[in-house]
Order: sequence, then C-alpha cells, then structure tokens
Amino acid sequence: MSPRPAAVEASLLRGVDRLLHESLDYGETLRTLAGVAVDRLTDLCVLDLLEGSGDVLRVVRLRPGTGAPDAAARLERNPMDPTAPTAPANVLRTAVSVLQPRVNADVLANWTTTKAAASALKALRPRSAILVPLKAHARTLGVMTLARLTDDAPYDAHDLELAVDLGRRAGLAIVNAQLYREAQAASRAKSNFLSVMSHELRTPLSAIIGYADLLEHGIDGPLNEGQKSKLGRIRASSNHLLQLIEEVLAFADRGRGPEALRLTDTTAQQILGDVQAVASPMAEAEGIDLVVTAPADALRMHTDVRMVRQILLNLITNGLKFTDEGRVTVAVEDADESVVFVVRDTGIGIDPARLQHIFEPFWQAEDPMTRRIGGTGLGLSVARAFARQLGGDVHVESRAGEGSTFTLQLPASVDGVNGRRPPGPPGAASVELH
Ligand code: ADP
Repeated sequence: MSPRPAAVEASLLRGVDRLLHESLDYGETLRTLAGVAVDRLTDLCVLDLLEGSGDVLRVVRLRPGTGAPDAAARLERNPMDPTAPTAPANVLRTAVSVLQPRVNADVLANWTTTKAAASALKALRPRSAILVPLKAHARTLGVMTLARLTDDAPYDAHDLELAVDLGRRAGLAIVNAQLYREAQAASRAKSNFLSVMSHELRTPLSAIIGYADLLEHGIDGPLNEGQKSKLGRIRASSNHLLQLIEEVLAFADRGRGPEALRLTDTTAQQILGDVQAVASPMAEAEGIDLVVTAPADALRMHTDVRMVRQILLNLITNGLKFTDEGRVTVAVEDADESVVFVVRDTGIGIDPARLQHIFEPFWQAEDPMTRRIGGTGLGLSVARAFARQLGGDVHVESRAGEGSTFTLQLPASVDGVNGRRPPGPPGAASVELH
C-alpha cells in the first residue's frame, strides 16, 4: 500500500463500511470484505473466521494476474488450525497485529502446519504481509492476512494502521451478520418445533372428532337428549381446539418462509358458506348471534381459498370470543377490483393504546396467566400476513366497550387477470346465508 492522502483513506474506509453493511448474509459479508481488500489494498487476502463449532471458515481472494488461482483455491481449502503454534493462530489468540515487511522462507514456515497450505503459499510467494485480528466488542472473531505478491514497496507501519482499522470495521459487520444468522436459525427452530407439536396434536384430535361423529350418527345405538347435548359440547370444544392448532400451524409455516399460493376460482359466497359452517356451532355454544350476509350476485374471486377461510375464521372467532352478548355480523361487498369482507361485533372493543399492537404475534390485551378468554395471540398476525400475501390487508376500527369492526380487503383476482365479477343488475338485494 503506497502512502495515500488522509482524505482518500477516510473515504475508502467509509466506502468499506457501506459495502460491509449492505448485506446481513454472513458468507456475502466475508466475500465482500475479501473483495474490497484485493480491489483496493492488497494482492492476496485470506480471512480465517472462528466458527461457534470451533471450526475455521476460510475465504481467500486473489487480485487477478498477481498469482496462481489454483494455489489460492488450495489455500482456501486448508484453513488455519487455531490451536497450532503458527503466526496467524497467534494473532487469533493474542489479538496482536503483525507487520511482516519482508516475507522469506522462514517466515512462511511459521504460517502453517499443513503440507497442502505450505505448498500453496510457496506457489503464491508473498513478499510482504500484514496479519490483523478481526475484532468486535473485545472479542477476536478471526484473522485477516493481507499479502503483497510483487516486489513493490513493502508494507509499513502506516499500512498496518489502515489494516487494523479495516479489521475493526469488518469485525462489527461480521458480528452483525453472525447475530442475524443465529437469530434466523433460532426462529427456524421455533417454527419447526411449533409445526411438529401442532401436527402431533392434530392427529389425536382428529380421532376425537371422528369418534364423536360416529356416536352422533347413532352407529352404536340411539342417543338420548342429554348424551346429544354433551356430544355437541365435545364437538364444539374439539373444533375450537382444532382452530387454535391450525393458527399455530399457520404461524409456524409462515416462519419457514412464504408458502406458494394455491389459487383457484371461487366466489366470496362460497367461502363465507364454508366459514359459516365451522363458526355457527361456536356461536351457538357462546350464545351469540352470527349473521352472515352477501349480495345475491356471485362475487367471483381467484384466490387461495384456504387462506381467505383462515383469515375470516380468525376474525369471526375473535368476534365471538370477545363479545359477551349481542351479535357478530359478517358482510361482503364488491369494491372496484377488490372484495371487502367486514366482520363487526358488539363486544368489549379495544382500547386505542392497544389497537396498534393487536396484529403483533403473541400479543394479547390480557395477561396470559390470568386471562379468562382462551387463544394463542396469533390469530390476527396470521390473518394480516395471509391478507398481505394475497395482495390485500386487514384493518380495524374499535372503541373500548362498543365493539370492533375488522375489514378484510382482498383483490378479487390475485394474479389480476381472472375472477372479476361481470357487471350485475344494480342494487341487487342482500341475502342471508344459511
Ligand atoms: P388471540 O385472540 O388468540 O388472543 P389474536 O391475534 O387473534 O389472538 O388477537 C390478539 C388480541 O387482540 C386478543 O388477545 C385481544 O386482546 C385483541 N382482540 C382481537 N380481536 C378482538 C375483538 N374482536 N374484540 C376485542 N379484542 C380483540
């Protein structure tokens, strides 16, 4: 590195900062760092990163035309041994930088313990080198080795200072990328756990619902009124439990990445009919009126029916849960290229300060340990995520003590091509769905 004006160095380091923080991907951050180093500072850059497992990840970059690419590739396949008595491992242990203005055979012999790495280094013939720790928050994450492969001016103390600064900045970017990678792994583990648990719970629950069906159909003989009523409760509770499990499953599946949409042609009336069939027994059990209305003309939709059903079920079951007496109404209307579902209840309503939180996963107005009303705290977050995936959204208006209105707006056709309702007679009457 030849001497550069301070302003040029400062702008170079700022550029490095920007590049390093552009991505949170761990591998990309390392490749960017090595790329920037050979682009602007050196001929050969070797990064050795100590992984949580104790293994070392090595990235090597060579400035084109300055050395043998196959030797660089061999060097990359042979990372440093952090326990060996070599110069790079010593930088990792002590975090003390090393300036090696002249690299000779003795110096090289002290850089590696494996034959493969030694022969690769010999082929590359470094003339001058700097070894600096990659540090963040007083922790040494790895070592960066910069080597000049030509006989130009050897590295000096000023170059060392610049390399140390680069190592410090790179360390912060690397630790951010590491934290992000760990957070993603933890989130995936949580999603997998929730998914496995939900599947496991669903299997015996399906058996309970199936056997309740058999009894209800009189397979083992006729039932008296008391037995029928208790069976009704078993079914209502089982369906409620199934709904909770579906919510957790839907949330977990989203955590594993967006699912491909399964688009089909349908109508808003068809979806509402399906949803009503599931929600009516719950409404009956709660003693709340559930009134579903829709225009007489079919509101055609091209969408993912499972998702729309799940969104509406989540909104309606919330309405039923948070309403002590009164009714939950569900209406649908056509609005330009969209279909708008409105779920309104006469329940407890939501305080304005809490309104902004209700779509966050696991958020519930009441303390989970003391709350009287069941739920996972996932229903609305799943509803909004599904609605957005379908190109729409869910909004809420509510006042404490006066009930809530949730509006689900969805494009009639998710791909924007099919599913528009042909213009019908104006003012077609609304009908109640049964
Ligand atoms: P869950 O209903 O399982 O607790 P949700 O994500 O569906 O989770 O809702 C989050 C919270 O928002 C609820 O716990 C409740 O405090 C509030 N909430 C949702 N819907 C309503 C509603 N219709 N009326 C009153 N409060 C509601």
